[in-house]
Amino acid sequence: MFFFFVGGVSPRLVVTRAHLPQPCAACGREALREERVDHVLSLFFLDIFTLSRGTPYLRCGACDWASTEPPQLWGQAPPPQLPRASAPTACCPVCARALQPGFAFCPFCGTSLGG
Ligand SMILES: [Zn+2]
Ligand SMILES: [Zn+2]
Repeated sequence: MFFFFVGGVSPRLVVTRAHLPQPCAACGREALREERVDHVLSLFFLDIFTLSRGTPYLRCGACDWASTEPPQLWGQAPPPQLPRASAPTACCPVCARALQPGFAFCPFCGTSLGG
């Protein structure tokens, strides 16, 4: 038997912080915002209640770069007693923070890292 239920669980994009002070690690522009995707039970396009709250992540409004890690982790140096990771980590030439590989811009001071 079928019945038609005009509603269901749908994702909702929630912007939790519209502007973050850090520049984007991919394009260097200050367009980062914090978002999360909630799952909302809706009926006739009205939200009834939030079923689950998504994990916040950061997304750049300018280049669509996204990171699930908080900015504090972007430049965190590994503890000195641990062996170095095999992947090389870049250091910002200006503020000297250790950065994750693949960053084109320092997310702390906005310096271009791409040569
Ligand atoms: Zn960007
Ligand atoms: Zn820097």
